Amino acid sequence: MSGKNCFEVLNKIFKPKKQENIEDIKGYSIKYGHIIENDMIIDEVLVSYFKAPKSYTTEDMCEINSHGGNIVMKKILELCLKNGAELAEPGEFTKRAFLNGRIDLAQAESVIDVINAKNEKEVKAGVKQLEGELSQEIAVIKQEILDVMVNIEVAIDYPEYDVDDVTNKQILDMLDSVEEKLKKLEKSFDNGKIIKEGIKTAIIGRPNAGKSSLLNRILKEDRAIVTEYEGTTRDTIEEFVNINGIPLKLIDTAGIRKAKDEVEKIGIHKSKEIAKDADLIIAIFDASKKLSEEDKEILEIIKNKKAIILLNKIDLNKEIQKEDKIFRKYSDSIIEISALNNIGIDKLYEEITKLFELNEINLDNDLVITNVRHKNLITKAIEEINKTRKSIKDKMPIDIVAIYIKEILEDLGNITGEFVTEDIINEIFSKFCLGK
Ligand code: GDP
Repeated sequence: MSGKNCFEVLNKIFKPKKQENIEDIKGYSIKYGHIIENDMIIDEVLVSYFKAPKSYTTEDMCEINSHGGNIVMKKILELCLKNGAELAEPGEFTKRAFLNGRIDLAQAESVIDVINAKNEKEVKAGVKQLEGELSQEIAVIKQEILDVMVNIEVAIDYPEYDVDDVTNKQILDMLDSVEEKLKKLEKSFDNGKIIKEGIKTAIIGRPNAGKSSLLNRILKEDRAIVTEYEGTTRDTIEEFVNINGIPLKLIDTAGIRKAKDEVEKIGIHKSKEIAKDADLIIAIFDASKKLSEEDKEILEIIKNKKAIILLNKIDLNKEIQKEDKIFRKYSDSIIEISALNNIGIDKLYEEITKLFELNEINLDNDLVITNVRHKNLITKAIEEINKTRKSIKDKMPIDIVAIYIKEILEDLGNITGEFVTEDIINEIFSKFCLGK
């Protein structure tokens, strides 16, 4: 519970072993006792006390640790509500922490990222932002702009001094420097998106090439962290797997398996569809057979796409070779594997890491943008930089230039939540789960 009256509510339902006045209880302490209803013990609990302003929300807070179990927890929750507490909205604790100024919006958003993280890299990126690293970087950039803004204000307030040329040079230098920093952040989103959403991967190939064998091989690597959820279209299921730290989102894998069961196999048409919105296509061929017309159509699908060619079943007699000229035309990544015997699968992962430059993400040093809202604001700020440059080139009066610069500041301020509207705040926090 959080808020002004939370200790009052607590008093009505919690009987500590050692009675103390709330004034005498220190923040960050834990008391042992019982949750009571009409003199009946509901559960034996520990209650943690946090006193304003030193708490998650900066308000008075308490946490009841019960033995758990749905019935008991529900009972305790009911008792709290009956005695004056209100049910928190999704994300309300974090929202209060933001509204009360303990954390900024970028930090609050990273709380969701950390909670929802599906792999370790994502947790790491989230925690970095939770610690305020993005906010600090934004603050540095904003200060750089503000330093120049001061001079502009002088030029506006005292037009009799001819400071225009000096200021223009200063503004342009500042814009270059700020743009460079923002572009670096913007670029980091390429990887941020992968960290967060996984590499959307499609496995295609003609019937019997070994698609489902490969899929099973990949899934077997880390059964435990496979999450299955409905894809955007009916019938497609996306599975999130994390292999050697490489997050893959396998699309329409259910289709592959389903097609098997139903005898009817996935045709070229379906393969095209699956491949359409993939970040990566894995095209698999049966190396123990000569290339068929259908195989050639599969090759056409991957033309000009990020794709890896797998020559499968190399445990059998090879009818096609890695070196065959035809493959080079379609991809530089050609790997021989045996899905059945687990040969060459490591090479496949290495190739994926290389293709997506995942080796280069160093989360210990680099700040990675993972949130699309942040990315869009950064892109918008870069656009404003270009507009500002143009306004200087077009010899606009300095007060107009100043308006453009303020736009840049506003975009950056929106990331940390200085200027955001209530709608945006509500939308952001609605993505939280209850009780966070
Ligand atoms: P799909 O139709 O593309 O999903 O192909 P499957 O994965 O169902 O494989 C078709 C057949 O080829 C199955 O009988 C597999 O056991 C077999 N197969 C798959 N990979 C290999 C391999 O690496 N070596 C051998 N010898 N057989 C394989």
